[in-house]
Amino acid sequence: LMGQMMQMPLMISSLLTHAARHNGDVEIVSKRVEGDIHRYTYRDAELRARKLAQALQRLGCQPGDRVGTLAWNGYRHFEIYYGTSGSELVCHTINPRLFPEQITWIVNDAEDRVLCFDLNFLPLIEKLAPHLPTVQHYVIMTDRAHMPAQTSVPNLLCYDELVEAENGDYEWPEFDENTASSICYTSGTTGNPKGAVYSHRSTLLHAYASALPDGMGCSSRDVLLPVVPMFHVNAWGVPYSAPLVGAKLVMPGPHMDGKSLYELFESEKVTFSAGVPTVWLGLITYVKQNKLKFSTFKRTVIGGSACPPAMIRTLEDEMGVAVLHAWGMTELSPLGTVSKLKGKHESLPKDAQRSLLEKQGRVIYGIDMKIVGGDGKSQPWDGKASGDLLVKGHWVISSYYKRKDSPLEQGWFPTGDVATIDTEGFMQITDRSKDVIKSGGEWISSIDLENIAMAHPAVHEAAAIACRHPKWDERPLLVVVKKPGAEVSAQDILGFYEGKIAKWQIPDDVVFVDEIPHTATGKIQKLKLRERFADHALP
Ligand code: ADP
Repeated sequence: LMGQMMQMPLMISSLLTHAARHNGDVEIVSKRVEGDIHRYTYRDAELRARKLAQALQRLGCQPGDRVGTLAWNGYRHFEIYYGTSGSELVCHTINPRLFPEQITWIVNDAEDRVLCFDLNFLPLIEKLAPHLPTVQHYVIMTDRAHMPAQTSVPNLLCYDELVEAENGDYEWPEFDENTASSICYTSGTTGNPKGAVYSHRSTLLHAYASALPDGMGCSSRDVLLPVVPMFHVNAWGVPYSAPLVGAKLVMPGPHMDGKSLYELFESEKVTFSAGVPTVWLGLITYVKQNKLKFSTFKRTVIGGSACPPAMIRTLEDEMGVAVLHAWGMTELSPLGTVSKLKGKHESLPKDAQRSLLEKQGRVIYGIDMKIVGGDGKSQPWDGKASGDLLVKGHWVISSYYKRKDSPLEQGWFPTGDVATIDTEGFMQITDRSKDVIKSGGEWISSIDLENIAMAHPAVHEAAAIACRHPKWDERPLLVVVKKPGAEVSAQDILGFYEGKIAKWQIPDDVVFVDEIPHTATGKIQKLKLRERFADHALP
């Protein structure tokens, strides 16, 4: 017997038509590259996305064509998400913080036909355009008044003019839900970046699951400000989950320093946010230095790299902001786990709750995980045994764009992370496999070392890396950026480890630097640090 229910393909356009119909007056507020604040509603956004779909057709785009974006979080970028995917084109977000050669490589690999970019990227595009043979149309995301008087970019089109020239008489098409909707490239810390190709189906299921209470847990009562950029794994799905639940969206544009963010949080009454640990460092410093308070901001997702427990405590105890520690990756669209308590944990003492919430958390429905040892056998879920983390699920890639070889191992995707899982299913990342410090055959978790250092009152940021050692192969070295004005010695910091971890895991030395290098997605660039300090003379 077959089920007798309606068959409706899961279409990304339906998220926006739903928002326009049922939450049509809910606002999308954007701080623009042009400097001012723009506000309109889901109803307006849906109409403009339809007009954009018309405009892209008029430019000759065919189903499956890739449309690249180099843009910050803003309403035009949001329209492009829907105008492209909704009309069977593929939205290809590109990280503008990558090196120009990487951007060129990625655009050429994706064979983007149209490239849309924010006003401030014009100089970059002028440099790149001669090397982008597949791009037929360059669209600058601004209005007529801000169009550059002169440029070497061939046939530069004005985004607002393109959109406004259309009448919006366009119906979102229905097609196979497994059709590609967007592409995101991994940052390629080893080798060339690889493309993850999402589908309408995977994106919708991810949006459904990530909006659940034990996922990110957002609702129509929320005002959502994604600090995570729309070019970093689709801003972790926020541009899809916000219209799904009808939450107000606040887009910070390029203005992501502590002051600008704080002012936007306050003026737009933001309740909920998401971003990598490094952006919170900036915001926390600003709020503390100026003795400010958040009046509406209550929850934030932090992920992308391990959130130090000290940061969770500062946000919760001093600022009243609950942290949802989450883990994911480009290949997972990106959400895999979120740290939320189970019912039975509600009566636990605060400290016991904290130690659960500091982990990367439990899988959301739709994802499964396991950890395996060197022999490929599953490790126990006892919170102690660590192993390579593998996942599978509805929004996990099965292959990379244009690559023939399968990344899967017997149907599971190897994440490259090393983790433990406890009896309650809380997963904790101990390291990226390439960042583990291997001392005399034993593994030392660089994340553990960093988390302890980050709790020291004089430490602004810390990275633990492996240093070559004649006897032990590798020994940990801690690289530290001090808080402004703080005085602290290497000995003070090493003393801080006493009693917190086994003696042999304590770093051999501490070096102080003015700045720790970050990747294009705001993670500590361990490779760079290892190159610089591999032969550091340990005491
Ligand atoms: P990119 O380096 O381009 O940002 P991803 O966002 O896909 O690429 O990176 C995914 C990786 O980031 C994960 O495999 C993991 O190593 C790390 N990561 C993500 N979230 C966390 C977290 N909460 N704790 C520790 N590591 C994390």
